[in-house]
Order: sequence, then C-alpha cells, then structure tokens
Amino acid sequence: MNILITGSAGFIGSHLVERFLNEGHTVVGVDNYISGQKRNTEMFLGHPNFRFIRADVSSGIPYEGQPLDWVLHFASPASPPHYQQFPIETLMVGAQGTHHALELAHRHGARFMLASTSEVYGDPLVHPQPESYWGHVNPNGPRSCYDEAKRYAEALTMTYHRHKGVDTRIIRIFNTYGPRMRADDGRVVTNFVNQALEGKPLTVYGGQQTRSFQYVDDLVEGIVRLMGVTYHQPVNLGNPDEYTILDFARIIRDRTNPALEITFQSMPQDDPQQRRPDITVARNLLSWTPAVPLQEGLQRMVAASLHPTPPL
Ligand code: NAD
Ligand code: UDP
Repeated sequence: MNILITGSAGFIGSHLVERFLNEGHTVVGVDNYISGQKRNTEMFLGHPNFRFIRADVSSGIPYEGQPLDWVLHFASPASPPHYQQFPIETLMVGAQGTHHALELAHRHGARFMLASTSEVYGDPLVHPQPESYWGHVNPNGPRSCYDEAKRYAEALTMTYHRHKGVDTRIIRIFNTYGPRMRADDGRVVTNFVNQALEGKPLTVYGGQQTRSFQYVDDLVEGIVRLMGVTYHQPVNLGNPDEYTILDFARIIRDRTNPALEITFQSMPQDDPQQRRPDITVARNLLSWTPAVPLQEGLQRMVAASLHPTPPL
C-alpha cells in the first residue's frame, strides 16, 4: 500500500512509519517539526520506500504522486507544555490540518484515520470512560486549544464520512509512552524517566489524579487492526491499568533508585482528576487488548534511551 502519515517525525508517527516500512509498504511522511524530531525522519531516509515532505499541514499537504491507499492524520502537538506553547498552531492543525488531510483522502479515495484523544472527555465525570460519554471539557481554559481542536476534528471527520463518503476511522488515544518521545516534551513519563536517569527529584504535580499508561507497540497494533475492519465510530485505545501519579512516581523511584527524592508542586488548571479507558469496543471489535505491562514498557523505554535504534 501507499500510506501517507502526517506527524511522521513525532513519537507515535515514527513508530507507524517503522511498522509500515517493515511490512513492505511505501510511506510518505509529512511534518513541520513543531514538536517532532529530525532524527525521527533521518532514521528512515535511507529506506527506498520512504519519502518525506516538510510542510505545515494547516497550510496544505503538497503531495503529488501515486494514489494513496491510507491517510493517517497524526500531526498535532500532544504534550500539554507543547500545545500550550503553540495554542493557535494546535487549534489550526486540528481544524485546517484535519480539513486538508480529509480532502486529500477524499481525492485519492483513501481510507482515513484521525488520531483523537482521551482529552475529548476532559475532566471526566464518568469513570472509566466509554466512547459513548460526551465529556466534560472547559471550552476556553488553558487545555481547550487541544481538547476543542480534537473535538472539532472528530466532528469534521464524521461529517466527511456522512456527507462525502470518506472511509474514516477515529481513535481516542490514552496516555501512550515508549522510545522516541522527546526528552524535553514535559509529559509525565518522559519527565520521570529522565529525572530518574539523571538522579534528580521526581516532580509530582498534585499526585492523587490518575492516568493509565499504554506502551506504544500496543497502540500501533490497535491502529493496524482498526484500519483492517469497517467501523467509523470513535474507538478508545489505551491500557486500563490505572495509577495515581504519586504511585507512578514511586514505581519509577523503586525500580531505578530508591534514594530518589519526590517533590510536590500544585496541579495545573483543569488537569483531569481521573482517566482510564473502557476498552470494551476495541476488545470486541478488534480482539485487541494491551499486551505490555507498565514495568516492562518502562524497561524497554529506558533501554532504548540508553541505546537508540540504528537507522532502518
Ligand atoms: P508528537 O508531538 O511527538 O508528534 C506530533 C507530530 O506532529 C510532531 O512531529 C509535530 O512536529 C507534527 N506536527 C504538529 N503540527 C503540525 C503541522 N501543522 N504540520 C505538520 N506537522 C505537524 O506527539 P505524539 O505523542 O506522537 O502524538 C501524535 C498524535 O497522537 C497527536 O495527534 C496527538 O494528539 C495524538 N495523541 C497522542 C497521545 C499520547 O499519549 N502520545 C495521546 C492522545 C492523542
Ligand atoms: N505531571 C506530573 N509531573 C510532571 C509532569 C506531569 O505530576 O513532571 C502530571 C500532570 O499534571 C498530569 C499527569 O502527570 O496530571 C499526566 O501528565 P501528562 O503531561 O503526561 O499528560 P496529560 O494526561 O495531562 O495530557
């Protein structure tokens, strides 16, 4: 197949590129590096089936070439410090970027996937969160640039499906971690892993809020399976094992260096209190369930940050 991935130089995008190249497909990556890393492109540049287009997808996707089979739209800053540093760009990539990606898929008759997020549930009042929950989002708070951009992107995607017949998929990704996250992205997993490796205190904001952490290989497997079935409603992809952030810090401390200090700061505004996916739909539809436990995923991430993968 000929597959175009927006956000290819990002954490998840780069794992998708790797998976599809390894399966023998042709991959076109598109990225403007607003939150991605050049080395996530460089590692594939020598591969005969990989091509890279540097472009801001909010302005357009300048692809010309063979017909596309799949368009996977993953471009968007994703870490709270990144999207709050680039709030307008984040709104635009959710709106204009999604529009350009859907138009491209429509022109090529390609199957389309939107990378949406558990953030569409906001600070949820229903727990765990099923896809049928409409969410509890502050529409103009500091996280709204991301949450509302993704909610709009979901609306646009469903509208292209209903009114133009585009063969769409929507995934709601819950906190995902693994090799090739940007060390300075400010997310809790990268912060704690890097703080632990450097022997620095682990910075817990609040501590009693919960998150559920999914290893990236599990996510990629769920994405591939969903692209292979016909289902247009949103699907949660996440690991239902739920931890308080303080317990998560203790796990990292106990496995790396029991002498590490844990320091406390206040919780950011609108930070969700609890988050855990209900994965009944993915389990029934895709026979999918996460396979990598937290301890093992963290070990793989640390090993990869000490010994990065050589180019494909
Ligand atoms: P990331 O920041 O590592 O990757 C996003 C990539 O998109 C970056 O390479 C960035 O440069 C690129 N990008 C952003 N705006 C662009 C634009 N206008 N034009 C071209 N490229 C642009 O983030 P990630 O964790 O890999 O997330 C990928 C996708 O998955 C995002 O859409 C994100 O919202 C979604 N998601 C991720 C998680 C997670 O836990 N990692 C959770 C929920 C949803
Ligand atoms: N967090 C923390 N310490 C950090 C970074 C984040 O305690 O150094 C908290 C953050 O406030 C949130 C949770 O960890 O409650 C997950 O944060 P992340 O930025 O990874 O993603 P989010 O789920 O908020 O989008």
